[in-house]
Amino acid sequence: MHELSLVASMFAILEEQARAHGATRVTAVVLKVGVMSGAVPDLLESAFEAYRKGTLAEGARLEIVVVPVKLRCPDCGGSTVREDTDFSCSACGSRRVEIVEGRDLVVDKIELETDGA
Ligand SMILES: [Zn+2]
Repeated sequence: MHELSLVASMFAILEEQARAHGATRVTAVVLKVGVMSGAVPDLLESAFEAYRKGTLAEGARLEIVVVPVKLRCPDCGGSTVREDTDFSCSACGSRRVEIVEGRDLVVDKIELETDGA
């Protein structure tokens, strides 16, 4: 249940942000999920559905943006975006690549609503 704990910490962020802005509702959440983050978008979605009841984000829409792996090649200086797990440089074929994107799961955007604003 990796996703459930991810969603739990995500809700901590949502409620903190909502409080900080005096918002009464969270209407939308955009999550960026790196393909190497280890999180499965479908499971995140169902964890979100289960978790949001009774919270500020009860009616929120969840949007998941899958972030592909981005590699940087120290040999030729090129960068490569991979949708698969072939971690080699597309320009020179080097496998000494550095992963610069696609490992993280971040809350990218939150839409809030305030009463009577
Ligand atoms: Zn290269």
